[in-house]
Amino acid sequence: MGAGFGGLYALHKFREQGLTVRVFEAAPEVGGTWYFNRYPGARCDVESLDYSYSFSDELQQEWTWTEKYASQAEILEYLKWVADKLNLRPHITFNTRVISAHLDEGTLRWTVTTDTGEVVSARFVVMATGPLSTPLTPDIPGLDSFAGPTYHTACWPHEDVDFTGKRVAVIGTGSSGIQSIPIIAEQAAQLYVFQRTPNYSVPAGNRPLTPEEIAHAKATYAERRRLSWTSGGGSPHRTHPKRTMEVSPEERQEAFEKRWALGGVLFSKTFPDQMTDLEANEEARRFYESKIRAIIDDPEVADLLIPDDHPIGTKRICTDTNYFQTFNRPNVKLISVRKTPIERIDETGIQTTDAHYDIDALVLATGFDAMTGTLARIDIVGRGGRKLVDHWANGPRTYLGLGVDGFPNLFLVSGPGAPAVLANMVLHAEANINWIAEAIAYLDKLGYSAIEPTTEAVDGWVAECNQRAEETLFPRANSWYLGANVPGKPRVFMLYIGGFTTYLDICAQVALEGYRGFTLVPARVAV
Ligand code: FAD
Ligand code: NAP
Repeated sequence: MGAGFGGLYALHKFREQGLTVRVFEAAPEVGGTWYFNRYPGARCDVESLDYSYSFSDELQQEWTWTEKYASQAEILEYLKWVADKLNLRPHITFNTRVISAHLDEGTLRWTVTTDTGEVVSARFVVMATGPLSTPLTPDIPGLDSFAGPTYHTACWPHEDVDFTGKRVAVIGTGSSGIQSIPIIAEQAAQLYVFQRTPNYSVPAGNRPLTPEEIAHAKATYAERRRLSWTSGGGSPHRTHPKRTMEVSPEERQEAFEKRWALGGVLFSKTFPDQMTDLEANEEARRFYESKIRAIIDDPEVADLLIPDDHPIGTKRICTDTNYFQTFNRPNVKLISVRKTPIERIDETGIQTTDAHYDIDALVLATGFDAMTGTLARIDIVGRGGRKLVDHWANGPRTYLGLGVDGFPNLFLVSGPGAPAVLANMVLHAEANINWIAEAIAYLDKLGYSAIEPTTEAVDGWVAECNQRAEETLFPRANSWYLGANVPGKPRVFMLYIGGFTTYLDICAQVALEGYRGFTLVPARVAV
């Protein structure tokens, strides 16, 4: 399921292996994230040279990225180009949402049903449904009563939206809000930004790539990829060799300055201990604060924009182009929802506890029901008639982020329990899919019909993910990594935070040991 970065590669890889593959995609086009998130300013925050398929040198040599961080439009073009080049479209059923997947315990096959009424039987089901594919609409009283247009960043219209001369409100200041706000501010007559939690955002440093840079990257792609595959986050970055407090204040300042000048999310990995040691983190935070205060004219606005409730990097750090400069504009007003909560939305605008803001258009940059939201919307039923949503009632439980006990032959791509959104997700998807393809080949070679993690292996992996998270500063933030953005969602750190390459090594070792922690079901059991 899904025809984003994950599903497209899965289709290609499994077909190459001689499997019969059918992809269902809810959208009318490939692209996933990059089909839906068309808001102004949408672009990747992992460098495009790295945030692109690595499995085919032909692809990476033929495609040329124009900017350091490609725009949504360019990434979508790339995915369409890949789909055409690899002749993937004939195997994808578009405009079709899978609504259920039920296991037949007798045959260990899955019955998959779609919203178009189609029913198919499959031996394997691969959920490439995306960790950030179910937008979250806030439960604000009166939201539906607003008379003007309401846009969610994650389901932006395909036609141009022009805010020229309009009074616009943006609710939400995560990555999507922070990317779109500067551009909306340039168009709108008046922009109101409703901020609940201030976020850390580092200048992206986006710029066109020069022909020399492109030529160099193409000539050295193998090494660039090798560094990415052996890194903590899936890009060819290495942290400073020493811990934060091991170096002199001057060296520390220089390292932060250097990283800041390069731009982007990797600022939170300048030193190796920044996300595990509060003192180290505080050094980075202080540096950050001085940089941001220097941009903002009004110190009271700066106070509101600078986070004080979580260590830097413990929520997904944002990257921007002129975000903080935007608050120096006369047509932009920041409203802290913490200080003056939104009471309701009415026909003409937003009522907070102290004022009414008249608006012509409303933008919701309010994020996603991440990691589990999309899976929860599919009726997935495994052994004993157990529903995945019930199985995960206290938080997602997987082994290696790849499989779930009680759900044989159902695989997850970039799912909970994997590094997923903590890594470059293109390489992450490739890694998950390569592992799944090898597992299927292994089953067939040795005459097994199914693979399913044991409950002990799942328990052990969940405990390991929790323990790894506890060793970091991440649990100190109310982030979507913990499900904290969705009312009622269990508070569980949903990712494996031990590092991309460590995770890959563990997955490879499990396979090498004959799929340790998985039960392999002999073919004769299932007819
Ligand atoms: P998706 O791209 O989400 O694709 C999943 C597909 O499954 C969707 O097309 C959806 O329609 C389909 N689907 C879901 N449920 C069903 C169903 N029941 N039936 C049929 N189809 C279904 N990650 C990075 O590493 N670097 C970045 O710079 C980066 N930038 C991002 C920017 C934005 C705005 C967002 C929202 C995310 C970003 N991410 C980034 C994360 C991004 O989601 C992944 O990098 C990647 O695109 C996910 O690919 P995917 O194929 O796993 O999932
Ligand atoms: P997000 O990070 O979850 O941000 C949502 C914002 O909406 C937060 O500021 C949140 O406040 C606010 N919000 C939610 N409900 C609200 C309410 N009822 N009232 C007021 N404010 C409310 O979502 P996102 O910005 O879409 O980003 C999600 C993830 O997608 C990112 O973390 C990243 O992984 C990926 N992404 C990447 C890029 C990129 O640069 N490449 C761009 C966009 C998205 P609280 O913080 O208080 O909850």
